[in-house]
Amino acid sequence: GYNLIIFFIISHLMSILGKFNPWNPSIPYEILSLNISSKLSTNSHAIKESSKDFGKIIQEILPAAVLYPSCVNDIIDLIQFSYGLPVPFHVAAKGHGHSIRGQAMAKNGVIVEMSSLNNNNNDENCGVRVSWDSGLGFYADVGGEQLWIDVLHSTLKYGLAPVSWTDYLYLTVGGTLSNAGISGQTFRYGPQISNVHEMDVITGKGELVTCSKDMNSELFFGVLGGLGQFGIITRARIVLDKAPTRVKWVRMLYDDFSKFTKDQEHLISIHHNGLDYVEGSLMMEQSSLNNWRSSFFSPSNQTKIASLLSKNRIMYCLEIVKYYDDQNANTIDEELKKLVKGLKYSGGFMFKKDVSFVEFLNRVRSGEIELQSKGMWDVPHPWLNLFVPKSSIMHFNAAVFVDIILRQNKTTGPILVYPTSRKRWDDRMSTMIPEEEIFYCVGLLHSSSDYNDCKILDNQNEEILNYCDKVGLNIKQYLPHYKTREDWIKHFGKKWNIFQQRKDQFDPKMILSPGQRIFN
Ligand code: FAD
Repeated sequence: GYNLIIFFIISHLMSILGKFNPWNPSIPYEILSLNISSKLSTNSHAIKESSKDFGKIIQEILPAAVLYPSCVNDIIDLIQFSYGLPVPFHVAAKGHGHSIRGQAMAKNGVIVEMSSLNNNNNDENCGVRVSWDSGLGFYADVGGEQLWIDVLHSTLKYGLAPVSWTDYLYLTVGGTLSNAGISGQTFRYGPQISNVHEMDVITGKGELVTCSKDMNSELFFGVLGGLGQFGIITRARIVLDKAPTRVKWVRMLYDDFSKFTKDQEHLISIHHNGLDYVEGSLMMEQSSLNNWRSSFFSPSNQTKIASLLSKNRIMYCLEIVKYYDDQNANTIDEELKKLVKGLKYSGGFMFKKDVSFVEFLNRVRSGEIELQSKGMWDVPHPWLNLFVPKSSIMHFNAAVFVDIILRQNKTTGPILVYPTSRKRWDDRMSTMIPEEEIFYCVGLLHSSSDYNDCKILDNQNEEILNYCDKVGLNIKQYLPHYKTREDWIKHFGKKWNIFQQRKDQFDPKMILSPGQRIFN
């Protein structure tokens, strides 16, 4: 009886201090004897904030506590503690929380707020170290918690920059390397996961391991695209190249999908002095002129495009970029002219811009700020991202873009479609891509006004996936989300065994990233 009274007093004091939730049975009290105890919080505000993501679809998956690490050892201590328990608790690294379906959440576990490592970084280069060596050329050692926008600004001080990007730069290095990191540069330079020389990773056993193609390669390839299943990336050594200063940025509109994709495929096949970026998107009346990609067009061009769309209902927008700097400033227009010669876009519908390299790479930010001001950014986002083999893309256009999306007329948000090549992907990495040499990246980046709307769009996503499955279009989900083990096994196909073996090896107690719902 006496002990019980003391227990209640301590519990009560602890909960007032917000240090630890005495009522959550998943984490034992001994955690408070670790050095990290002062960096753990069970404060209800902290718990709520850490369990939010960009998708705003999954809610109320609350962790027991949040860790705000100030160094890598704090994360090691946490994982080693969990690993040593008879019943371990889950740990999820949270980068910038830009997942869609709770992938960075951990019910009753501990969320590691990776950005906290950065807060403790007094270095004015945000923990980005640039070096050169005769074998690797220029590279940057970057914390897994770093945002790509900060990596860009830090490396530009040396006139250098990473070569492979995502469309949006407010994502962490660890977060995108856990998926792939793709954009219009991928056809040329490969995804971000193909542009990493080395990483430091804390495994699910709490061991800090340096890995590369030649050192602990099983962990290296597993982690790249590994959905956070094998370890927490605390450092990545990223390929750098000389940064251009400006870009020529062009969009052309097509009324014919076949011409549009043929031109895209032609453009990504040019090896010598080709383009640096090739993307594309759908344009439909209601959605295309009011999303984060629309700021490209001047108001008068928007009017011109709107009148075209009222006749055609669906158009395709090819988007290309060629980098340049002082050295080729005089010849860039001529180079570009050669590249677009013979393209079959609708006459009069080519639009050009000349902007700085940073303005181009950070192009989504202005759209984000505008949508935020209208209250249209922090809304549910039932996204669906797919890789579609080249041989299925015409079928996909007719059945999905035209028959489902255009006919149902529910979409608000960009719809991306652009080809890329397998050549620059290493099959030992965990990300799943189609077997064909050329495949398309398709992003249905829906935003919805409320949860009902979100449900309707999610049903549409389901319809699309079922259709692709039924007729055998051999698509793969990017940023995958599945509800059953069978679906995950199907997703990984012949790579499932190796994925599972790597899990047994590096996270045998299945502690890490439970929000992906692969092993948990
Ligand atoms: P989080 O959502 O925080 O985490 C994602 C997963 O990775 C979780 O499972 C988490 O546990 C794990 N994780 C986080 N940090 C680490 C780490 N250091 N080590 C190991 N595991 C970790 N993707 C593209 O490829 N191209 C794009 O152009 C693109 N554009 C986007 C635009 C927007 C507006 C949004 C919201 C997303 C976009 N994405 C794009 C998707 C994005 O790359 C992924 O959602 C990515 O995971 C987000 O990074 P994050 O830092 O927010 O990760």
